[in-house]
Amino acid sequence: MSDPIPCSPLFKLSPELRIKIYSHLLTFPNPIHLRQHVRGTPHTALLRTNRQIHSEARAVLYDLNTISLSRNDFCLNTDPVLQTPVQTQHVRHLRFTSFGESLACNFLLERCAVCRDDARGLLGVLVGMPVLRSGTIDYSTQIANFMRFRQLAADEGGRSTTGGLTVTCGRVGMYRVRGAGMDQVDLTFAHRPLASMWPDLATLSRSSLSDSEEETALARLRAQDPDVPDKLWLVLWAAQHGLSAAVLGEQAAGAWVEESELASMDGEQRDAALHRFTVVLQTFLKAHTAVQCRRYLNALRESVGV
Ligand SMILES: [Zn+2]
Repeated sequence: MSDPIPCSPLFKLSPELRIKIYSHLLTFPNPIHLRQHVRGTPHTALLRTNRQIHSEARAVLYDLNTISLSRNDFCLNTDPVLQTPVQTQHVRHLRFTSFGESLACNFLLERCAVCRDDARGLLGVLVGMPVLRSGTIDYSTQIANFMRFRQLAADEGGRSTTGGLTVTCGRVGMYRVRGAGMDQVDLTFAHRPLASMWPDLATLSRSSLSDSEEETALARLRAQDPDVPDKLWLVLWAAQHGLSAAVLGEQAAGAWVEESELASMDGEQRDAALHRFTVVLQTFLKAHTAVQCRRYLNALRESVGV
């Protein structure tokens, strides 16, 4: 890193204006992976200009962006060279793209505290991040890991009188973590494809769409995710036409829960109902392909003459 450049035009501007410039250059629409962005784009090259700019711009980079990390980055058995060079004391918003254990711990009989199913070590790391305000962990590729974590938290929460961890399903595919020192942090576990698609599709299914409007709306969602919209659309369509049991199976169809029913439930009932329904939907997503679901929906439409 070179020394400050006294005549740099940047330093003739007020600090407020410099911050505006950094914000413009260093705000990214998606979560950033520091190794990739800080070292790899022309804009983040700004950080290497000199010490003062680095310090000012780094604060902006961390304040305005969501940082993408994984358990690998905190795993106690992983070589630091293989971990993201993150300054955890500055991270405000983070996203874990998976809930999988690190590669190193995957091969060991005894996982480290960060990678164990109860994730106590990981939560400890998050609690220790002084300015962390929000975190999302996408568990969609490690559903079994997350379900074990949820169960362990439920067992622990039931026994503990102080600081007990609670993991509550607040809406389809999304679980909020409270307790265990996490109260300053809005921490959620999400089945991201399900949680991001379900609200839009559920709203669509309640509107009276023409065939072409329906196709346009689905095409827009398929552009975001080619897999999930057709699957969930089949589930929603079937529910509207009294055919949930045919699509989901008799038992799973019983987990269907209407918004109006949720409104009358207390917190515990709501959590249980949404969790049951989430499990049904994520199982359905895994079991079928989008093409199968489209074909099946067409066959159902023909059979009921819609
Ligand atoms: Zn580990």
